[in-house]
Amino acid sequence: MNLTTQAPFVLEQVQRKLPELQVAAVWIASPANIRYLTGFTDGADAKLLVTPQGATLYTDLRYDVQARQQSGVPVHLARPRDALEHARGLIAGRPVAFESEFVSYDKYSELLSVWQVPLHPVKGLVEPFRLLKTEGELELLRRSARIADEALAQVAVTLQAGRREAEVALELEVTMRRLGADDKAFGITVASGVRGAMPHGGATDKRIQGGELVTIDMGARCGGYHSDITRTYAVGEVSGELRTIYNTVYDAQERALNFIKAGVRCVDADAQARNWIVEAGYGDYFGHSLGHGVGLNIHEEPALSRWAQDQRLEAGMVVTVEPGIYVPDLGGVRIEDLILITDTGFEFLSHAPKARL
Ligand code: ZN
Ligand code: ZN
Repeated sequence: MNLTTQAPFVLEQVQRKLPELQVAAVWIASPANIRYLTGFTDGADAKLLVTPQGATLYTDLRYDVQARQQSGVPVHLARPRDALEHARGLIAGRPVAFESEFVSYDKYSELLSVWQVPLHPVKGLVEPFRLLKTEGELELLRRSARIADEALAQVAVTLQAGRREAEVALELEVTMRRLGADDKAFGITVASGVRGAMPHGGATDKRIQGGELVTIDMGARCGGYHSDITRTYAVGEVSGELRTIYNTVYDAQERALNFIKAGVRCVDADAQARNWIVEAGYGDYFGHSLGHGVGLNIHEEPALSRWAQDQRLEAGMVVTVEPGIYVPDLGGVRIEDLILITDTGFEFLSHAPKARL
């Protein structure tokens, strides 16, 4: 079953591009794009050849039953090398485009040597379609977000001095699985005290202490779709400076959220939060972008960043809004929510409570 009901439509759009690209076919190598276009869930072990006549999913014999059940396009089972030989017949000596971000130099060399045709690198053939989520995708994103919320609610109340970060992370993961998640969305961060200054600090054997802030960044994955949420908690009484940092991040996120709606430039959304943090004197300590798209990949387009000059938010995009401040040797704060852009503003997909300190 293909949940992205627009897969046949997108495949057709890719096929329409072939004459413009002056190629006979395109070699799709991105696991997420393969999943999106075919419904096959193990895109990392597959490739997709799209020709004007149709598409062929190549994967190996381990996926015999699964690929035939899942794929919306014909499946050819073969070892990777034999798959290239089969594809050569369909290419028939004409030029081929390939997803250059997902083909290593070694694989590129192999394509050249087996196919003996000109190869043209392409990017972003499928990704623009993935920006706007379908109802089926939104249902899975909502489910992933709900499970992360619920797990966070259950585990956050157990945060206290003496607990190890890794123990908290494990509990979050197990709780999400019990609640029905296929898996965690990514390695869970539980970063306490000075470790909070590491935005992707993971979770270690460190014990949480009173007077520390604890940043938890986590998400669930359901049917291939991810969620992503961060909350920062105070354990006991924290210092005035930590409180200032926390409230600055909280207000920065609120400013960005008040600004965000369809039509807004991503770079301007980033600036709403960033300028607030800069004015508070912490501009040097917000080293990442305001947010990112979420879907089949945990990080995908659009980027809510200083560098995304041309990108605008559109109704149907699902993005995070996650300002942060990370001060070495002191600690850090990040607050992140997952939202769906709508015509009038946005809808929260994450609902875990948060408040100023
Ligand atoms: Zn996150
Ligand atoms: Zn994120």
